[in-house]
Amino acid sequence: MIAPLESGRELAPYAAHSSTSRGRRHVEEPPAYRTEFQRDRDRVIHSTAFRRLVYKTQVFVNYEGDLYRTRLTHSLEVAQIARTVARALSLNEDLVEAISLAHDLGHTPFGHAGQDALDACMREFGGFEHNLQSLRVVDELEERYASFRGLNLTFETREGILKHCSLKKARELGDVGKRFLERHQPSLEAQLANLADEIAYNNHDVDDGLRSGLITLEQLEQLPFFAEHMRWVEKRHSALKPQRLGSETVRRMISHLVSGLIDSSADAIAAAAPRDIEAVRSLGQPLIRFPPALQDAQHALKKFLRAELYAHPHVHLMTEQAQETVRWLFEMLSADYALMPEEHAERAHAAARRGDEAAAARVVADYIAGMTDRFALQTRDALRARL
Ligand code: MG
Repeated sequence: MIAPLESGRELAPYAAHSSTSRGRRHVEEPPAYRTEFQRDRDRVIHSTAFRRLVYKTQVFVNYEGDLYRTRLTHSLEVAQIARTVARALSLNEDLVEAISLAHDLGHTPFGHAGQDALDACMREFGGFEHNLQSLRVVDELEERYASFRGLNLTFETREGILKHCSLKKARELGDVGKRFLERHQPSLEAQLANLADEIAYNNHDVDDGLRSGLITLEQLEQLPFFAEHMRWVEKRHSALKPQRLGSETVRRMISHLVSGLIDSSADAIAAAAPRDIEAVRSLGQPLIRFPPALQDAQHALKKFLRAELYAHPHVHLMTEQAQETVRWLFEMLSADYALMPEEHAERAHAAARRGDEAAAARVVADYIAGMTDRFALQTRDALRARL
């Protein structure tokens, strides 16, 4: 057992240290009272893309109800889980927070349905992938700073945002793409943010699924991991209402996954004994990992959610409508760039004049990807009214 630490303790030698950061693409004066990674986190929070997450779908489209997770509350849950683990392992909490809060900035409206539809629209032009788009948002699309485009984040935060990418894309991306070509690992903080994301969505999707009534406790009991925790709660608290029983069970599952992740990662780190972050990066395997039994439990949860919640006829209907909206917007805006706000229209026109069709399509995709659920619906309705 690792005792909890107050913040302000020393970082482990293998953690990411702000003082040895690989730096920013545009050189800046160091911040006065913050570390470089605190500055990154603050830039993410001040970004437009971050504020838009509040009206972007996690699983349930915004108009379905006020109590479901959105991309924003999802990102906050990821950050909170990741920070707990980071502190227990003496990793860099500021970095893990910056990565967690930024990891979904590139999500389209309407969750994965929106992303799939936009990817299909962009097939001839290099496709669309929300994870790559998150990097694009912080590297290029945010326009807030006088001296550079994007947020000019540190290499370490950008490395953490880019979770996966094709070899072709990796070659185009330069510094952050290199590890995919060399089969190296990212920092422990990046590895951690990735698994905190999994813990967060599996559990909150169970919670939201129960709230919606689309999945039931009886169904979830088929999962040994869920059943084990539910039995434990039932034994100590008889006659709990189903909603409270579900919430308490989910709470226990998160806690079990988080402590399992801490213990098993601490063991892996101790065994590999990396000297510093470069030693972590040059390993063939990630060191932040679940023990095998919890890895299986996570996998079973994911499989269950895919079959029973994400493919539920109600969610499916929502998904189809969302895809239809994205496809329709893409067609309309591609046929007439002037339907977009001026700066987007100008960029698309300029690309088209150069004969760069892919770049023009990318402007349309960027504009649609930036939309919130409700803005996408409003835009669709406003355009339809003009037809
Ligand atoms: Mg996520």
